[in-house]
Amino acid sequence: MKPAISCLSVLLICLGAASVHAAHETQDPALRQRAADALARLAPLPLAKGSLPQPLVEINRESADRRWVIGSATQPLPTMTGVDADQVPLSRLFLARQTDQGWQLALEGEDSFAALLEAAPDDWLSADERRAWRSQTVRAKRLAPDATGLGLPWQEGAAWSMTGGPHGYSGESQPYDSIDFAGGDGRVLAPQAGVIYKSCLRNGSGLVKLVHDNGYSSTYYHMINLNTVADGQRVAKGAYLGKTGNGLPCGGSTTGPHVHFSLIHQGKAEPVNRKWLGGWQFFSGSRAYQGYAARDGGRVNVGGRLTHYRGGGDPAPTASRRR
Ligand SMILES: [Zn+2]
Repeated sequence: MKPAISCLSVLLICLGAASVHAAHETQDPALRQRAADALARLAPLPLAKGSLPQPLVEINRESADRRWVIGSATQPLPTMTGVDADQVPLSRLFLARQTDQGWQLALEGEDSFAALLEAAPDDWLSADERRAWRSQTVRAKRLAPDATGLGLPWQEGAAWSMTGGPHGYSGESQPYDSIDFAGGDGRVLAPQAGVIYKSCLRNGSGLVKLVHDNGYSSTYYHMINLNTVADGQRVAKGAYLGKTGNGLPCGGSTTGPHVHFSLIHQGKAEPVNRKWLGGWQFFSGSRAYQGYAARDGGRVNVGGRLTHYRGGGDPAPTASRRR
């Protein structure tokens, strides 16, 4: 009986630890204000003040002394059902440090982020996490202009539909940094290794972000049945992230079960036009949700199926005639 009891208590400790590592809303009004102000600088809210819910400011990871935080600032949207649109809340991660003068806070992509990152304690950020974040700073080396080093977010060799071509987080908003995908077994997989953070967790859905170590980050919305990996942990290429769904954990709208996949480069929304992902080059149309993907002289329009190559962005001629 004794071993069983100790096993149970270990399990409870583990469960308790896991919940500590999940994003939770900050109770610190000063931190909340700093993060909300930073998000407002990034994108002045398009709607009249007061028409949107308050920004959600969450702590994803914090140091033991609580002076260092990796958090997320998200602008929730009203939840709209029965509309044929795909709207996703704006969200950014930030790094913050509490000083005697108050919180210093930098959003990913801001100039001050790099300095804050270098000042963060060694025993708090893992080597994986630090390497991934260093690559996101504007001083880091950039890949060839059209390369991303990323696959597509599902199993290699499988075909999924491009249900929406390049578009912004609210459809027509620029840049067109996002593409919608659905199909196959619905299991969304990491298109490259990365450090994971999950914000706005509600009923097994949330906003998922992978910080890769080549300057790119990728984000995922509408998924359900998210994995249970703790924030700040590295997931391998091909690791399960979640399932395509209609999740609206921070509001917005959805056109049916899919994943909204977005690209961020060095902390800023990156146009997907001309970018290579999983062996395909994507092209924007003149309007949101239009456009196409191409490889080997062939092209697939919106609604068509894309076979994810094995080996990421390398051309695979034997697969080029597959439909
Ligand atoms: Zn979308």
